[in-house]
Amino acid sequence: MDSCEDPHHQQEHQSKCTMRVPGPIIVGAGPSGLATAACLTEQGVPPLVLEKSDCIASLWQQRTYDRLKLHLPKHFCQLPLLDFPEDFPKYPTKQQFISYMDSYATHFSIRPQFNQAVQSAEFDPEFGFWRVTTKDRTFISRWLIVATGENAEPVMSDVAGIEKFHGSVLHTSAYKSGSEFKNKRVLVVGCGNSGMEISLDLCRHNAIPHMVVRNAVHVLPQEVFGFSTFGIAMTLVRWFSLRLVDKLLLLIANLTLGNTDKLGLRRPKTGPLELKNITGKTPVLDVGALSQIKSGKIKVMEGVKEITRNGAKFLDGQEREFDSIILATGYKSNVPTWLKGCKFFTKDGMPRAPFPNGWKGENGLYTVGFTRRGLLGTASDAVKIARDVAEQCRTMPTRDPKTSCNNFP
Ligand SMILES: Cc1cc2nc3c(=O)[nH]c(=O)nc-3n(C[C@H](O)[C@H](O)[C@H](O)COP(=O)(O)OP(=O)(O)OC[C@H]3O[C@@H](n4cnc5c(N)ncnc54)[C@H](O)[C@@H]3O)c2cc1C
Repeated sequence: MDSCEDPHHQQEHQSKCTMRVPGPIIVGAGPSGLATAACLTEQGVPPLVLEKSDCIASLWQQRTYDRLKLHLPKHFCQLPLLDFPEDFPKYPTKQQFISYMDSYATHFSIRPQFNQAVQSAEFDPEFGFWRVTTKDRTFISRWLIVATGENAEPVMSDVAGIEKFHGSVLHTSAYKSGSEFKNKRVLVVGCGNSGMEISLDLCRHNAIPHMVVRNAVHVLPQEVFGFSTFGIAMTLVRWFSLRLVDKLLLLIANLTLGNTDKLGLRRPKTGPLELKNITGKTPVLDVGALSQIKSGKIKVMEGVKEITRNGAKFLDGQEREFDSIILATGYKSNVPTWLKGCKFFTKDGMPRAPFPNGWKGENGLYTVGFTRRGLLGTASDAVKIARDVAEQCRTMPTRDPKTSCNNFP
């Protein structure tokens, strides 16, 4: 019974009412939460999905730029049990991806509870369940599935002097389109996929982007002879060592893109796949920014020494004026802010156990979408979690054989 309707319980929990959930609680209604909810539903285990924003896939709907397309071909990005529509292009647009997410939720009758940011979740060892609290309620369940994403919060990297700057400063999560920046001088801090693509978008809207490249970066062609570079790499690693595949990828990159070091984009000493495995740093897949760098329309700048009132001083001694600064400084997980008393995650909010072992913790704790492998990692986690939970439901001593997952302490 929902204790909100139970006067006795209301006395016990004056501030929050408590609700028992028969299936698992999934925190987050992004692609990972939805994929896991679909797989659980398919196994006959109904989950409760709690989402802090007011829509599904909020990262895609609210925090991405208009020109965004999937970086990888669609067959690497589809969720389990329901493929992308056949008429979608190889690289679906952001809007197409959102419409796929909408149909996915509808198809599996997933109805998240919106505006329910999880403020805390903690395992109660005495009763053997998770206590999950939002502003309105406390939910209890045997299982907690963390699906809040690797990109939950923008990282507002502290660039020296940024508080002095008189123009606008925004993170890429708030950037929609270059149309607002026509003829403006824009400093883009960061050269990952977002930094590169936003610089390209700025160019296409006749803005004047300067992109700060602080660290070494691998830029790879998105495709070679019509084949996705990612797909080629995935095929080759089945047969050859990571290092050998890296050598091949770099050879292809040099042949197709030329020497990117000459453009101010130093390559790391470690190869792209090995670096991804060790640090999680994704190589940039070039969708056109490189040719704008070659033509001088995107200016590559070394690290910033300090931001001034009207612009920036750079490490190489140059000083320039800017109208706006865009921080392409990435995202971080928010798990440490709400998951309490749990050593499964690092202080950065990532599972301690590396892929493929980071999906399952103790006491009914699971994580989905923390593999640093994008939607491909999400799909594999979701399937494993659903099977594991369903297996527990089947083997649990039942009070009601039809609904074994209602078997609470
Ligand atoms: C610009 C950009 C482009 C990308 N392109 C690709 C691509 O082409 N291919 C690919 O595979 N990956 C891509 N990614 C990676 C992408 O983030 C993931 O693939 C995908 O969105 C991850 O889904 P997720 O559900 O794990 O996380 P998210 O999409 O971040 O969803 C997490 C959800 O949890 C909610 N949430 C967070 N905290 C709480 C809380 N405390 N309580 C309740 N709810 C909470 C959030 O509101 C959000 O809706 C891209 C990422 C970015 C930023």
